[in-house]
Amino acid sequence: MVPPELHLINPVQLAEKQERLTGTIPLSALQRIREVLHDDKGSIKFELHFGKDEQGVIFIQGKFSVSLKIKCQRCLQPMELPLQGQICLGIINRNVARNLSDRYEPLTLNDNEISLETLLEEEILLALPIAPVHERERCKGSRIVEEYRPEHDSPFAVLKNLNRNK
Ligand SMILES: [Zn+2]
Repeated sequence: MVPPELHLINPVQLAEKQERLTGTIPLSALQRIREVLHDDKGSIKFELHFGKDEQGVIFIQGKFSVSLKIKCQRCLQPMELPLQGQICLGIINRNVARNLSDRYEPLTLNDNEISLETLLEEEILLALPIAPVHERERCKGSRIVEEYRPEHDSPFAVLKNLNRNK
């Protein structure tokens, strides 16, 4: 099934024109991200710049920011997870084998096109922590964890504070 309203782009053509794309995509359009979300309201903001470097590599550079509502992996209650990241992709054409320098993450295209949704999904998945949890004070599950972390009662905790006050 093809999800509706995908925004297909052709990075090669965009790179020739040195285009810049900015915008927002609703999280509800990102099928793979929706699976991990507690709530798919909200959207991802992005800025993408297309170009060709001195070695002829077509690149997509930019950044994104998004706030995800997901489940805390400690207490299983909803939490807000702000994420932002840099995007630095180098396009690999299936027909032309070449090695990319380390500065790019490789992106292989089928049919020269990719949807903005797929591209941004990948970036979010890469930036997502393996086990996101609340800050300890806000997490209902942290009391259980606390029992295994006796550092609050440790005399060294007091020493640390003393040193800081000097
Ligand atoms: Zn929690």
